[in-house]
Amino acid sequence: MNEISKQNIEKLIKLQEAETEIVRLTAVLEKIVHEKIKLNAKLIQFEAGLKEKQEIFSKLEKDCRDLEMEIKILDDRIVKSNEKLRMVKTNKEYQLCLREVDDSKKHKDALETQLLEYMDERDATRTIVEDTLKEYELLKEKITQEQKNIEKNSSDDRELLDEYEARKADIGQTLDKALMTRFGKVSKMNKGLVVVPVRNEVCMGCFMNIPPQLYIEVQRGDVLISCPQCSRILYYRNS
Ligand SMILES: [Zn+2]
Repeated sequence: MNEISKQNIEKLIKLQEAETEIVRLTAVLEKIVHEKIKLNAKLIQFEAGLKEKQEIFSKLEKDCRDLEMEIKILDDRIVKSNEKLRMVKTNKEYQLCLREVDDSKKHKDALETQLLEYMDERDATRTIVEDTLKEYELLKEKITQEQKNIEKNSSDDRELLDEYEARKADIGQTLDKALMTRFGKVSKMNKGLVVVPVRNEVCMGCFMNIPPQLYIEVQRGDVLISCPQCSRILYYRNS
């Protein structure tokens, strides 16, 4: 595998330049995706809160309507009982009818008190829903704008990434397939840093000393040498 000429190391250095940018830009773009998801989640969460408040309001509206209906039924009953009151013949019947009217009125009073409470609650909830809706519209507008900005900023990075990917592919075609496989493996192991210089017998990838004999071989540059510690491909730089 190591029968690679000195020219290859120059290609590998260029390949590393592209790889470094690819790793950097990929991370930037991933962060952007994450940011967009986060913004979306914020909106969805707010939406859920709004929906919950709207449901509470709908239920209160229904409760009010039901109570109004019940009161109306009682009203009818009171009217009927009053009519009946005028028709009754015996005192016993009269007393019975009177009590019926009385009961209905008491029941109606209680329902009306309850209705007032429900209406207060309904009106307060309506205000909350209206305010929340306004807040939601503002938030939605803000988030849409933020996402547009993110999209705009990331399109440059995406273009750049495509460029470096193409450059990597171009260089890759001029290199041995096995060497590219090795490059890919070491890149995965080392977060994209594969080809590193050696200075004063120290690997600039893992900052460990390499054996003197190996250092001489790297300096000579006849074959590709890997760092015994981190497996990165080494090249010599005296500065
Ligand atoms: Zn190393």
